[in-house]
Amino acid sequence: MEKVGFFRSVHVKFVTIYLLLILIAMQIIGVYFINKLEDQLVRNFQQSIEGRLPLLEYSLVEEMMKDRTDESIPPLEEEVGKLLADFSAQDISEVRAINNRSLIIGTSERNNQSIVGQKTTDVMVKRILAGGEKEDKIFIDEQSGNRVWILATPIKIGGEVAGSIYLVAKIETVFDQLEEINQIFISATLIAMLITAVLGILVARTITRPISDMKRQAVAMAKGNFSRKVRVYGDDEIGQLAISFNHLTRKLQEAQAMTEGERRKLSSVLSNMTDGVVATDRKGRVILINERASQMLNVSRETMISQPVTELLLLDDQYSFEDLLDQQEPIVLDYSTDESPFILRANFSVIQRDTGFVNGLIVVLHDVTEEEKIEAERREFVANVSHELRTPLTTMRSYLEALTDGAIHDRELAPRFLDVTQNETERMIRLVNDLLKLSKMDSKDYEINPTWVDFVLFFNHIIDRFEMTKERHITFKRMLPDKAMFIKVDEDKLTQVIDNIISNALKYSPEGGQVTFRLKVLDEQIQISISDQGLGIPKENLEKVFERFYRVDKARTRRLGGTGLGLAIAKEMIGAHGGDIWARSVEGKGTTIIFTLPYDPEQEDDWS
Ligand code: ADP
Repeated sequence: MEKVGFFRSVHVKFVTIYLLLILIAMQIIGVYFINKLEDQLVRNFQQSIEGRLPLLEYSLVEEMMKDRTDESIPPLEEEVGKLLADFSAQDISEVRAINNRSLIIGTSERNNQSIVGQKTTDVMVKRILAGGEKEDKIFIDEQSGNRVWILATPIKIGGEVAGSIYLVAKIETVFDQLEEINQIFISATLIAMLITAVLGILVARTITRPISDMKRQAVAMAKGNFSRKVRVYGDDEIGQLAISFNHLTRKLQEAQAMTEGERRKLSSVLSNMTDGVVATDRKGRVILINERASQMLNVSRETMISQPVTELLLLDDQYSFEDLLDQQEPIVLDYSTDESPFILRANFSVIQRDTGFVNGLIVVLHDVTEEEKIEAERREFVANVSHELRTPLTTMRSYLEALTDGAIHDRELAPRFLDVTQNETERMIRLVNDLLKLSKMDSKDYEINPTWVDFVLFFNHIIDRFEMTKERHITFKRMLPDKAMFIKVDEDKLTQVIDNIISNALKYSPEGGQVTFRLKVLDEQIQISISDQGLGIPKENLEKVFERFYRVDKARTRRLGGTGLGLAIAKEMIGAHGGDIWARSVEGKGTTIIFTLPYDPEQEDDWS
């Protein structure tokens, strides 16, 4: 956090305001007080001098009234000089007496006796002699540079102006005194300001300390530390603020804990979801993408944040973000590659405020690869079944039509045509039976009924049956153990499996070919294989022959009466026994169908 500059600190502001207040107060008081004091002191000074004047005037009148004809009486100037010298005190620099003819009749200044007898030029004195009243003035003496007070008063005898007293007083002492008082005042102001500054700092500190505390606390809170508490210094407004602050801290901590808890819950829900979730802001940029979505879309979560969602879903050439906002129906995203199918269904829901303002979009991605596969298989199955049923029916219809159109009366054609329709009917029955078998096996409660069987004997019986009924010249080669081997199997079902494999081997064997039957004992299973020397199965179809309705060469197998379901049924049945079935083939050389069945020699011992 930014540090508060010294000049912007509360301390400085406080102290400055205090000092300014004190300064203004002192200035106002000072100006008023000093002015009043000056007036008072000047007036006192003047009054003290003026108070002594009547006595001087009286004495001067006495002297002036004396009859100077008497020789014994000293001359007027001498007497006046004495009076004036007596009158002159510390605060008076000179006193002169002037008669009504403007002649100076005496001065107190010893060194200035030469002016006695001279005419005065002073205007103030002249005005008084002309009948004026007392006059005074203060001015600065040019020689000394000090202020002096000049007073001129009339000397009256019987109401008539008989002369004037002219007085020069050293009023500078009064101003010196005032200067001293001023100095005291300035130092008092400085001391007051110093004390104020100290007090100001102390007062400011009582405010700033809790505030600094709160500031530190706020910084700590911003970093997620809620354990601190602000110290409450008192019960004033700042104390109340500190209490409120602590309360706020507690509330914030609770809210933070709650938000954190919610966040964790949400994030664990999102990360454990089996569906992918992507959320965007109102501009369609990704703001959240859960683990599953990033796996599904094969992107890293960090790099996709802030990217347009249309780009993330690889939809940018078909849809704009606005299109997705209006998208009510889910969109199927096909990310399948040649190696593996991968299909997602994306559902869109808009995050909207009550006002209708769009805040963003949530996309939920659901993996529908399996569903789509099953759906595709179902469609294919239905198409296959319809096709398989329609083919014999169309054949039968055309033959029956021919019979109806008259062929029935043809002794040669009629039995042949009826033979064909019978064959087709049988094929349809086989097909429907096979379908029923498969549908039974598909149902959940399909069970096999295993019993203990000597498998070698059981296998030999089946081969015998085929050997006896075979129509073409094909040799059978048995490479089977000559001892009994007991395993637990559902005889009926296994008969169907082996029947189908042998009849295929015979069907696809060339005239004079050989079919070989083998039985091998492996660790915990027996492996049965039936090989022929027929035309074989192309390598890429080796696994597909176990799929429903799959035939390598449709026309030929149909001609041979196959339904395309035999190996699919065999696979289901072997699977139900806990075994496995697969094919090996070299094209043109022959095919081997191999299957395994669980075998436990120890248990077998109990039975043999
Ligand atoms: P089908 O009833 O048509 O024989 P199957 O499920 O038994 O149906 O066999 C599926 C397909 O596998 C056959 O149509 C055939 O193309 C191929 N097939 C099965 N066994 C052999 C074999 N021994 N030799 C060559 N092809 C075979």
